[in-house]
Amino acid sequence: MSTDTTPLERGSLDGECEVPEAKQTPVDMQRLEQAVREILAAVGEDPAREGLLETPGRVARMYAELFSGLHEDPRQYLQKVFTEKYDEVVLVRDISFNSMCEHHLLPFMGKAHIGYIPNGKVLGLSKLARVVESVSRRPQVQERMTEEIAHLLESELDAKGVAVVVEATHTCMTIRGVRKPGSLCVTSAMKGLFRTNQSSRTEIMQLINGDRR
Ligand code: ZN
Repeated sequence: MSTDTTPLERGSLDGECEVPEAKQTPVDMQRLEQAVREILAAVGEDPAREGLLETPGRVARMYAELFSGLHEDPRQYLQKVFTEKYDEVVLVRDISFNSMCEHHLLPFMGKAHIGYIPNGKVLGLSKLARVVESVSRRPQVQERMTEEIAHLLESELDAKGVAVVVEATHTCMTIRGVRKPGSLCVTSAMKGLFRTNQSSRTEIMQLINGDRR
């Protein structure tokens, strides 16, 4: 082992937080429909029953929409920046999203809060929401999604600090399994100044939590 590698922090997903390249092959709608018919038959339903006739097509279109992020590259939203001398915290709070847990293919939904300290480059605010949308519209894990957003901003914007906090309700925990409605999963990823400087981290967490709690 080389000595210059920094040890990963506990819980860190460094190394697997790079968003994969956009898929070039289109969604195979026929295959999707067939798979839905298979699921219906496997659980004991009759896919030919009148009420279910159009279900495979509907579900196929729904999956294509929910996983549309696989076919785009979120980096595209981080290319148009403005040169500004502003070097204080920029925070966009309460960006709502919905995603699909890759372990159960059940939705999880919630809010993302994204803060960064610009390094001469400022991003259009709506672009942060676009990035969240793009990263969430694919089979996901909340921890990885949080890291991916932070990594994207850090690498593309060259920001002095990036803070991403995601809070979400997982239907795989509320409607099945342990059935704990109301439980909220909170994840965070801190980069640059927010990682190394305690007062910057405290400031951003106060801004994110605001007067809500
Ligand atoms: Zn799950």
